[in-house]
Amino acid sequence: MSKHESNEPTPATRLVTGGRSPDPRVVNPPVYRASTHLYADCAALRAGVKSNTDGNFFYGRRGSPTQWALAEALTGLEPGAHGTVLYPSGVAAIAGALLAVVKPGDVLLVADNSYDPSRSMAKGLLKRLGVEARFFDPLDHRAYRAAFCDRTKAVWLENPGSLTMEVCDIPALAAEARERGAVSLIDNTWATALGFPALQHGCDIAVQALTKHVGGHSDLMMGSASAGERWYRALRRTAQDLGHVVSPDDAALALRGLRTMQLRLDRTTGTALALAGWLAARPEVAHVLCPMLPGDPGHSLWQRDFTGGCGLFSFVLAGRDDAARCRLVDALELFGIGYSWGGFESLALPFDVEPVRAAMDWPRPGWQDSDRYAIRLSIGLEDPVDLIADLEQAFAAMDNR
Ligand SMILES: *Cc1c(COP(=O)(O)O)cnc(C)c1O
Repeated sequence: MSKHESNEPTPATRLVTGGRSPDPRVVNPPVYRASTHLYADCAALRAGVKSNTDGNFFYGRRGSPTQWALAEALTGLEPGAHGTVLYPSGVAAIAGALLAVVKPGDVLLVADNSYDPSRSMAKGLLKRLGVEARFFDPLDHRAYRAAFCDRTKAVWLENPGSLTMEVCDIPALAAEARERGAVSLIDNTWATALGFPALQHGCDIAVQALTKHVGGHSDLMMGSASAGERWYRALRRTAQDLGHVVSPDDAALALRGLRTMQLRLDRTTGTALALAGWLAARPEVAHVLCPMLPGDPGHSLWQRDFTGGCGLFSFVLAGRDDAARCRLVDALELFGIGYSWGGFESLALPFDVEPVRAAMDWPRPGWQDSDRYAIRLSIGLEDPVDLIADLEQAFAAMDNR
C-alpha cells in the first residue's frame, strides 16, 4: 500500500501505530512495575533531575514508559492536543481537569444534562472550595448567554448528555465561552476523540472515562484529559499536586483496548442503530433517545459534528410504570443490569431523570406525562439478532402478569 508523506495517518491507523514500544524488536511497551528509578551515583542522581520531563522515567508517580506510551497514543488521536494526563478513574479526570482551571470566587457553568457525579462535584467539592456552579440548559442558547457574568471562569459540557442523549451545538457553545474569556471543558466519553474531535470543535480540555470505550472490556478504571499546551501544563501540574497516577498494568490494558476501539465502536454503533430502529417501532416504547437514529431531535447536529457513534442509547416506555420497567429489565437474559458501559457485553440500566435535572424539563416538552420511565442500553458485541430476540421476550414478560 502506498502512503503519501504529506498525509497524516487517519485515527484508525493511529490506534495501531500510537504508543508502541521504543524498542523496535517488540510491539508493545513493557509493563514497568516500578516506583523507583535507580541512579549509579550522586552525580547521576543530580543529573537525573533534568529527566523529570514529559515522556521520561524519573519517579513512579511521574509516569513510567508504560503510562507515557498510553498518554502519547491518546494525544495522537486528539487533533489539537499537546498532551494527555491520565487519572485513576473518569471521575478523577473530571475533578483533576476542573481543579486545574477554577479557583475560589469563580463561577462554573454546568450543562444540565451532565453526568451525575460531575454535577455532584460542582455542588459539593467545588462549592466547598468557593466555586459557584450554575446549571444551564445546553439546548437554550439564549439562557446560556444570559448565564455568563464577569466571574464566569469555565463551562462544563457533555455531548450527547448522559442518560438522556441530547446533542448540543458544541462549536457554538465553545465559541461563546471563548469570546467571554471562559475555558470550555467537555466530557467526551460517549464519542471519544474518534467520533468527536472536541478540541477541533473549539473546546479547551477534552475529558474521557477510559473505563468505557478505551478499556472496552469491563476490567479497568481510568480517565484522561487532553489539551493544547497551555491547559495541558495546568492539568499536569494539578495532577502531580494531587498525586494522581495510574497503575502500569492498567495502562497496558488500556493500550490493548485502544487497538480494537475503532472495530468495537463500528460494530456496536451498527447494532445500536438496528436495536434503536426496532425499539422505535414497538408499541411499548414512547421515545427512543438515540442521536444516531434519523428523526431524533439531535440527529442533524450529530451528523454535522460527529464522525462516529457508539453502542450507548436510551428509550422511554409508553404508559408503563416503574414496576413494569423492572419486570422488563429483570426478564432480560443477555443484558447485564449495571452501571458503566462501553464493554464487550450488553448492559441495561433503568434511570430516573427528575432527581438529576435543574434546568431541563422531564418529561421533555410535548411528551405525555407518563413518558418518564427510561432505560439506558449499552450495546456489546453480541449478535444483534439475539439481542432483539432477548428484548422481544422481555417485553412479553413485562406485560404478561
Ligand atoms: C462513567 C462515566 C464517567 C466516569 O468514569 P469512571 O471511570 O466510572 O469514574 C464520566 N463521564 C461519563 C459520561 C461516564 O459515563
